[in-house]
Amino acid sequence: MNEYDSNRIYDLLANIGFNKTGIKTEADCFVLNTCHIREKATEKVYDEIGRLKKSFKNSKKPLLIVSGCVAQAESEEMLKREPYIDAVIGPQSYHKIPDLILNFERKRGKFNETDFDVIKKFDELQKVPISQAKISSYLTIQEGCDKFCNFCVVPYTRGPEHSRPFQQILDEANILVDQGAREITLLGQNVNAYNFLNNNKKYKLSSLIKELDSIHSLKRIRYTTSHPKDMSDDLIDCYKKYKKLMPVLHLPIQSGSDRILKLMNRKHDTKYYLEIVEKLKMADKNIKISSDFIIGYPEETEKDYEDTINIIKKVGFINSYSYIYSARPGTPASNKKENNFGTNKKRLKNLQNILESLQLNNNKKYINKFCEVLVEKKLENQNKYFGRTEFMTPVIFESDNCNNGEVVKVKIVSYNRNNLFGFHKISRNERAA
Ligand code: SF4
Repeated sequence: MNEYDSNRIYDLLANIGFNKTGIKTEADCFVLNTCHIREKATEKVYDEIGRLKKSFKNSKKPLLIVSGCVAQAESEEMLKREPYIDAVIGPQSYHKIPDLILNFERKRGKFNETDFDVIKKFDELQKVPISQAKISSYLTIQEGCDKFCNFCVVPYTRGPEHSRPFQQILDEANILVDQGAREITLLGQNVNAYNFLNNNKKYKLSSLIKELDSIHSLKRIRYTTSHPKDMSDDLIDCYKKYKKLMPVLHLPIQSGSDRILKLMNRKHDTKYYLEIVEKLKMADKNIKISSDFIIGYPEETEKDYEDTINIIKKVGFINSYSYIYSARPGTPASNKKENNFGTNKKRLKNLQNILESLQLNNNKKYINKFCEVLVEKKLENQNKYFGRTEFMTPVIFESDNCNNGEVVKVKIVSYNRNNLFGFHKISRNERAA
């Protein structure tokens, strides 16, 4: 989502005459768009500002704006601690950046814009041309979260759930496709909680997928990140109905222990989660699931940890993320006693080995087979291309006749944990699309 936001912030600035520069010391203005999910996020921002200060030691200070979730969470504190910062702008207020810049000289002072002004934000953004469509583009459809998992800052930094107007999203999708996008990933902190009411008609994520599926030049549809509680039957049905919806779903479970899921306030248990996986497999037997795992959540026992390992093996997750729990200030879990770090580290290593072997086994299955790959780019100075399979696995392959945005059949000849490698040397009439 931060990549989407950064692109739109750039569009807002381009709209008032700013250009990107690759030469740091030439910049008149810096926008540090920050993420609060990862550990030590705040300190990383101050480190970056320290580097900026050094670079501008002998020249005029640039305007420095800190945006994103760290700005939202720390706001006043940041302005007090680091006088080099001119403004902190929360993720729901970044549409105000142009106005702030244009009036900065006149108003002077420090600015704190951290309201949850999300409706206004998308209304304003709609007026600004999109300049950075990629073959695989992001499109935010929903923001915020009402779930309040005990470890997570999102409900505090992004605010309550808000769904963008249905037509506004379709308009943006059509613009992206007109500009060359061939894959669109619909984004939201709780993307499958998308729910827009207009003239008594309810629009859901499944309604968006249906409309996107009919956009002729669009080849692939994805969405992320989903909450198990919002995996409704109409959404699961989309895997039967719409060919363009890719058969891989990121559906975080976080833990395989019902006791820990309860402590996390996840609002689902493992039985419910496995039922969803079952329904998804009934809709499309080839579907694959990826997840996030938090290891060492406060009070996690060896038994809880083993339950997580068991569910990993049972579901056979691919492309998953795993972390040791670390407290986020202000969240309910942050008051809990943390587990022994050494034990957490050992558990994480073991779990990651299991995820890695699942991933390797999954990739091995492609050897000597053909994969459908959406070509995203040609690698610099090489006769090689980069693209992704339907399951999001990166593929690096040789070809002498393919174009960005095409879906081509690639013969896979080798693999590692993260990538597949192969050749695209078949004649044009054998292509996949
Ligand atoms: S559902 Fe996701 S975004 Fe919402 S609180 Fe839980 S982890 Fe955070």
